Amino acid sequence: MTATAVWTGIVYVNGEYLPAGEAAVSVFDHGLLYGDGVFDTMFATYGYIFKLAEHMERFRRSLRAVRLEPPVPLADLEGVIIETVARNGLRDAYIKVVATRGVSPEPLLDPRNCTPTLIVFARPYLSLAGAGKKETGLSTKLTTTQRIGHLALDARIKSLDYLNLVLAKLEAINAGADEALLLDDQGLVCEAPGYNLFMVREGRVVTPSHAILEGVTRATVLELADELGIPNGEGPIAPYDLFTADEAFLTSTAAGIIPVTKVDGAPVGDGRPGPVFRCLDAAYEELQRSGRHGTRIPER
Ligand code: PMP
Repeated sequence: MTATAVWTGIVYVNGEYLPAGEAAVSVFDHGLLYGDGVFDTMFATYGYIFKLAEHMERFRRSLRAVRLEPPVPLADLEGVIIETVARNGLRDAYIKVVATRGVSPEPLLDPRNCTPTLIVFARPYLSLAGAGKKETGLSTKLTTTQRIGHLALDARIKSLDYLNLVLAKLEAINAGADEALLLDDQGLVCEAPGYNLFMVREGRVVTPSHAILEGVTRATVLELADELGIPNGEGPIAPYDLFTADEAFLTSTAAGIIPVTKVDGAPVGDGRPGPVFRCLDAAYEELQRSGRHGTRIPER
């Protein structure tokens, strides 16, 4: 499949498994008209969906936070996800579950009387970071586009409204960087579009706690750091901290752990992926291979 080819697999929409070309939602769906909905992204590797229960729990919290009742009971949703991946015959997959407020009698902002929409799709694994970035690291830009404040929209909700992050990404790309780093309402660096942020100073791994999505990969990295005896914890990261850090890296379901080697044109540490990154990345790869947190995809 080329990068531009449209995926032709099976997509689940509102109770039906359909060829991707036939899977459709209404143009009046509030998810499209207002960004009124939530989603979660998972991945499968070696024939196992990684930390499915954790993703389901975060999805449940997102739904609760926006007062959205999914059309399928959450207890059944895991089965729908596994079935979608299996029907696509995938062992390594990028998986998305999307719930929107759906369609209302009139396409106005009113969230009442809507019939919710549920979509699940699985595609061959896609990476958010470009090829080779694990080796070279990412160049990043501290964007003037700030992470939307929690009084406006809590970053812990994985909502369909990602325009804030898209604009930051555009700003970074236009400045010649690979990726954006956003500041929160206190001027601290919080996360990147689709990634959580970590830095390393004097052997200690630190990740922000404020204005972030509670990343599943972030939690995994903290667990692995514990297991490996690497001191770690949550803490504020100011631009100063990044400019003076020994290492920095980003974490995401859709990319794994990716080193950050430049911030606003300045090298992070010696400008190369560092030893703490390498150690955690190897442990993360090993964890995936072990199937320890995996839900097996039945073979068809
Ligand atoms: N922050 C944001 C805004 C995200 O969209 C993502 C991707 N889901 C992350 C962080 C990383 O979270 P995870 O490790 O669960 O993919």
